[in-house]
Formats: sequence, structure tokens, C-alpha cells
Amino acid sequence: MELLYWTCLGEKCKTNCCGDKFINSEVINLHGLCHDTVPLLPEEKCAIVERYGPEYVKRDRDGVFYLNVSKGQACPFLADGKCTIQENKPIFCRSYPLVRLDSFVGAVFDESCPGFAYAKKHGIEMNKWQYVEMLRNFIMLQEYRLSRVRIELESMSRALVECQEECL
Ligand code: SF4
Ligand code: SF4
Repeated sequence: MELLYWTCLGEKCKTNCCGDKFINSEVINLHGLCHDTVPLLPEEKCAIVERYGPEYVKRDRDGVFYLNVSKGQACPFLADGKCTIQENKPIFCRSYPLVRLDSFVGAVFDESCPGFAYAKKHGIEMNKWQYVEMLRNFIMLQEYRLSRVRIELESMSRALVECQEECL
């Protein structure tokens, strides 16, 4: 595997990806990937509602639950530059800076994360286990997305069959 230089600067990060200043990312500008669009797995949504309250989640038109953050605002779970819900941190956050652009491009690292430039400058390689964990979370999230697509396709197929039967 090619050496990958990355580290999370954590509370020292001036443009923390969970904060309101993280708006210059090309990936985010193009694809709207940000902490204000953090999708939650059903079990993550239940755990957050149970532990912190229903106001922290919102349901989108696609039927998926997301963290309830408004565009341009910091995540409500960010305090002093740190995520305060480590135990319930969504897998989307756990797989960052590995992000999925779309079905054609697939997974990429969001290099606007300052952790890349810092690590390269200081020769800090990404920890192998960190990478494994990142990939595992990324795959879990994509499997969930796929399961949603399958549900949608099945419902469209049923509608198609009904339409065809009516036409006969
Ligand atoms: S932008 Fe990168 S370095 Fe900064 S807090 Fe997020 S992951 Fe860490
Ligand atoms: S849940 Fe934690 S890691 Fe995820 S956006 Fe909020 S503060 Fe950041």
C-alpha cells in the first residue's frame, strides 16, 4: 500500500471539519458533504435520540435520519474543538476524511482536511489500524446506502408491475 500521510489535528485544527469554518473544501462545495449532512444508521439514530434527545436528529425526504445541524453551523456535539459523543460518534464521522463522491468516482480522501498537509510536512504516516477502522466504517455506511437504494428500486419495480397490469 502506498504510504499515506495523515493525522487528525483534533482541537488544534483551525478549520475543524465539525465546526462552522469548514466551508472551503472543494469536496464539500461540490458534493455537500459536511457535518451538516451526517447520515445516521437506524441504530445510531436510536442511540442519539435516547441519550441526547430527539432534537439532535432530523429526517430527510429520502427517509434517512441525519444529525440536526443547519448549514454553516458547527455540530452541536462539538465543544472546545472536540467531539463530545465519542461513544456514539456516527460512522460517517468515523470514516472521514474518506468520503464517497458519487457512484462514478467512488471513495476519495478529502484532502482539504489540514491533517494531510501537516502529516506530510512532519512525516506522520497514517496508522494502519486507523485506516482499517476508517475503511470498515466507510463500507458499513455504503452498505446502508445500498440497502436504501434496493428498497427504493423494489418499490419502483412494484409500481411498474402495477402500471403494466393496468395497461393490459
Ligand atoms: S479537518 Fe481533518 S484535521 Fe481537522 S479535525 Fe477534521 S479530520 Fe481532524
Ligand atoms: S458527531 Fe462529533 S465527529 Fe461528528 S460532526 Fe459532530 S462533533 Fe464532529
